[in-house]
Amino acid sequence: MAVTIFDKILAGDIPCQKIYEDEFVLAFRDVNPQAPTHALVIPKKRVERFQEYKAADPIDVGQFFNRVAKVASELGLEKRGYRIVINNGADGQQSVEYLHAHILGGRQLAWPPG
Ligand code: 5GP
Repeated sequence: MAVTIFDKILAGDIPCQKIYEDEFVLAFRDVNPQAPTHALVIPKKRVERFQEYKAADPIDVGQFFNRVAKVASELGLEKRGYRIVINNGADGQQSVEYLHAHILGGRQLAWPPG
């Protein structure tokens, strides 16, 4: 597995604007925000693509989504709402091959996405 920019952020080799960290996940600000609030959440147990979760321990999957919800709450996004995006593979426009959930909020988002 190729080392990605998110492996380096997790290892502390590249700085990030950390939002939240525990034994399961790291959450940090996206370097190129697409909304007033744009966070990324990555699982510490390395997964390249969301599609791998079909064979993962449901507890790991659940911990990840639980933390995504927790981070969105801590960012103050629950009242107005927010969007979770997980890009998977080429057609999904995944550019970093390390599973990550985008949390987007702080403005009215458009639908459908491009
Ligand atoms: P993807 O297109 O793979 O779903 O999203 C990758 C995201 O990672 C993009 O929104 C991009 O702005 C963000 N990103 C890429 N490199 C870095 C980095 O070095 N630091 C941070 N904080 N975000 C990054």
